[in-house]
Amino acid sequence: MLRLPRPKTDLRTLITLLAVASIVITLANSLYAAWRVQREQLITNTLEANRVYAAKLAASTGQFFQQAQSQLAWSATELSDRFDDEALLQKEVERLRQQTNSFNSVVVVDAAGWVRAISPESLTLKGMQLHTDSAREALARRTALIGQPSLSAANNLIVFVSRPVWSATGSYLGYIGGTIYLKRKSILHELLLSQFYRDGTQLYVLNRDNRVLYHQNGQLVGKKIAPLLQQDAIAYASSGYQEVTDERGVPMLAGYAHVPDSDWTILVLKQTSVTLAPLSSLLFQVIQHSLPLALMTLAAAWLLARLIAMPLWQLARKAGQMDEQDAAVEISRIRSWYFEASQIKRALLSGIGLMQTKIGQLKSEAQTDPLTQLLNRRGLQAVLDYLATTRQPFAVLALDIDHFKQVNDTWGHGAGDRVIQQVAQQLKSYARQTDVACRSGGEEFLMILPGADHDTAMKMAERLRQATQRQAIDPVGEVTLSIGVSCWLSDREVIASCFRRADEALYRAKRGGRNCVIAAAAQSENETPLCES
Ligand code: GH3
Ligand code: MG
Ligand code: MG
Repeated sequence: MLRLPRPKTDLRTLITLLAVASIVITLANSLYAAWRVQREQLITNTLEANRVYAAKLAASTGQFFQQAQSQLAWSATELSDRFDDEALLQKEVERLRQQTNSFNSVVVVDAAGWVRAISPESLTLKGMQLHTDSAREALARRTALIGQPSLSAANNLIVFVSRPVWSATGSYLGYIGGTIYLKRKSILHELLLSQFYRDGTQLYVLNRDNRVLYHQNGQLVGKKIAPLLQQDAIAYASSGYQEVTDERGVPMLAGYAHVPDSDWTILVLKQTSVTLAPLSSLLFQVIQHSLPLALMTLAAAWLLARLIAMPLWQLARKAGQMDEQDAAVEISRIRSWYFEASQIKRALLSGIGLMQTKIGQLKSEAQTDPLTQLLNRRGLQAVLDYLATTRQPFAVLALDIDHFKQVNDTWGHGAGDRVIQQVAQQLKSYARQTDVACRSGGEEFLMILPGADHDTAMKMAERLRQATQRQAIDPVGEVTLSIGVSCWLSDREVIASCFRRADEALYRAKRGGRNCVIAAAAQSENETPLCES
């Protein structure tokens, strides 16, 4: 049987690949979606947590300042009618500093700017004038103030909170003020730094110039940093959040809140990468949970692919063997359970019928040789035209009776004719349903074997040669045949060239001693003789 080269992939592989591709794409897509959702969630949650944390600290800080202010206000009222009493002033500043624990130092300054009392006394500023911006501002503005943080003479970052002292008659006596050392222990310090910096969260307290007032890294305190937030963010809301990048370009999730009393900003930052760290383990869990179902779906797809492809595969296999005796029976047995397969099956079955009818028709309609009832050359041409149109591959046997001239010469022309008839009969009896035998002239014959490959054709030729030799013809006796065999592959050569090669092989059989079969292989190769010794 002759087979054309088969394409490498089959339908089953294609369907399986399609299923695998869709499962993989779906899985990847849902993983991506889960990743996106989780990521958004983590970022939003962290931003909001940071905002709430900043807002809470801002509120506590605000409360602290209000409390400090009201403590100073109480003292200012207490001192208003006894501002001359130095001992009282000193007692009051000591009480404020030690009792309230809000201030690191407390001072009373008169309207001319002289320090009248100070606690702790070790500061030795009594009787001197204060030259800090906050002290000057307190004198100038004569209102309750929370000064901008500044560096003290002793290199302490301090905030000065003050309250004017008015006499009962309404004249300005001076002010009472308290300093809070931001780097040193104070309630404010406790409040801010006692917040534990969990999981990589950083806390910045910044003044309006972006100077760091608090940070867990003490070296940053007092330094100015590049603005992290969009400038107008604080102006519009008391608290909020933003995704920002720090000065090293590291993405951060920032929550912020404004402390209106002191005009500070509390900034809570967490690195985005730290926030997203749990994401990979989350994704791994998603994969773990979806894998069993995906594998089951794959197995189901594989089985389904097999079920769908099976009838088509069987039909395709049979399509290459349509010349076989029971091809029609085998095709009709194939379970074609869906539309396409059943249509193809029907087409194949009617194709087999059509081919057999067509060749039958050609045989009867075409002119036959009157002596042998085989096709003559014209009849053969019609068969060849049909095979060429349908691009059906076939094998050619070119047969010639050996030493026929001697038969005529010895036994007469009539006996010669009978030999020709006998050989023709032999050819007919060996021909399959779709094979075509033809008398091409004198004592020469051609046999066409549609769908036969080289081996089949060689075997057929050898069988014919042996059968002819075996059957003695009265009165001639043993008659032998020389046979040349070639194959026509529809897409490789013209039909005439295939016949020429068969003739050449026959010629070689004659030269090789007759009564033998010679294959015409590829044109460059030598034929292999199958001669009887
Ligand atoms: P080879 O083995 O080389 O084939 O030798 P051959 O004698 O068979 O070949 P050759 O071609 O020399 O002889 C063929 C002979 O066949 C010549 C011709 O007289 C004879 N012949 C041709 N047609 C007929 C026919 O219809 N009837 C008879 N009886 N003889 C025929
Ligand atoms: Mg001959
Ligand atoms: Mg001849």
